[in-house]
Amino acid sequence: MLNADQLESVAALRRGLHLCPELSGREERTMAAISAFLRERTSLEVQNMGGWLLATHWEGEDLPWIGFRADMDAIPCDEAACGARHGCGHDGHSAILCGLGMMLEGARLGRNIHLIFQGAEETGEGARRVCETWPRLDKIERVYALHNIPGFPKGAVLMREGCFACASCGLIVRVKGRPAHAAYPAEGANPIALLSRLALEVRDMAQDVLAGGNRLLMVTLIGIRAGGENFGLSASEGQLNLTLRGHSKADIDALIRRIRAWTEAGCAQEGMKCAFELRDEFCDTTNDDAAYADALSRFAAAGLSVATLREPMRWSEDFGWFLKRVPGLYFGIGAGEDWPGLHTAAFEFDDGLIPIALRALWALCR
Ligand SMILES: [Zn+2]
Ligand SMILES: [Zn+2]
Repeated sequence: MLNADQLESVAALRRGLHLCPELSGREERTMAAISAFLRERTSLEVQNMGGWLLATHWEGEDLPWIGFRADMDAIPCDEAACGARHGCGHDGHSAILCGLGMMLEGARLGRNIHLIFQGAEETGEGARRVCETWPRLDKIERVYALHNIPGFPKGAVLMREGCFACASCGLIVRVKGRPAHAAYPAEGANPIALLSRLALEVRDMAQDVLAGGNRLLMVTLIGIRAGGENFGLSASEGQLNLTLRGHSKADIDALIRRIRAWTEAGCAQEGMKCAFELRDEFCDTTNDDAAYADALSRFAAAGLSVATLREPMRWSEDFGWFLKRVPGLYFGIGAGEDWPGLHTAAFEFDDGLIPIALRALWALCR
């Protein structure tokens, strides 16, 4: 374990990162601070991978590889002069991984370890970019990540077999008809009735996709817009914005196919056109069974207090893209029952979690 001075240096790094919050995809100063910290205090090989950082602990040619990933980005904040704030604790996650880098100094663990500092988690793009552009990912046998989670006992290691966090995406359904004088609406094609029917029926479509299964698949009506305030003109364009969320990305994909087919059929009947756009696409964050069982026994052996979640988290996490490629584990560290919620104005990462998180990561290294 790190000594008190080393732990304080990790907490000081966290506070420094907190003071330079950067939005998704623009984490330059954050990466510079992390690189400088690791170069000064460790002999890890540190590489700028273009939008993300890789630090490597190397022990030998034929040894197995494992990976740990931390996120680095802040969330948008109108009140902050720089437009961003570390309201999700990614400053803490990055500092923790730097602390692990210090613990790896001189260690002989019989394995090689990649520390992955990834940006743009909040938009769902960062993990995807690493997965799509870094072929070495396939050399890694297991990959791990954690998140601090308020609302649970402070320091509890939060585990869940299978799905830990939901898949989600934004879906925009655009329908284009034909304008007409309000006195002769039948001469045009007005999309309002179709979009309204879709808004009313989309929850039944989700139930059909689940076919009685008790997984979560929910639709939130985010926005609807059509026509205007010219009372002489029948509407000709409109859009419905939905957020789809569920335990399985496959369910969401099936629901999208259903919404498309329903809308295309309706448009064909009325001579209208439709288009679909996906936003903020996250897949489910689903743990590998063997990695879960292995970690459970390691955490117990390390004397950590483990709590298992009954339900997957409703929010999404882009680490799910890693877990689709490499078996691994995502887990939480409880931030305290009364700690302000993630993304709220009052939230700041609690440095008191750093030693517990390091014990958990170290248990996975050994
Ligand atoms: Zn967040
Ligand atoms: Zn987060």
